[in-house]
Amino acid sequence: MSQTSQPPRCPDCDQPLEVMKACGATSFFCNHCNELKSSQRVREHNAAPGNQEQH
Ligand SMILES: [Zn+2]
Repeated sequence: MSQTSQPPRCPDCDQPLEVMKACGATSFFCNHCNELKSSQRVREHNAAPGNQEQH
């Protein structure tokens, strides 16, 4: 398996998120929304099974 490590995407605007790791905790910041996103929502959005859209 060769997966490219893509950054997680914002659950709101679908832009790449900035991952910030501090003291063992991972935070996700969206430069587009200009706010922190909850890691749970980010995980759910990025792990959505069978949700492969092609445009
Ligand atoms: Zn966003």
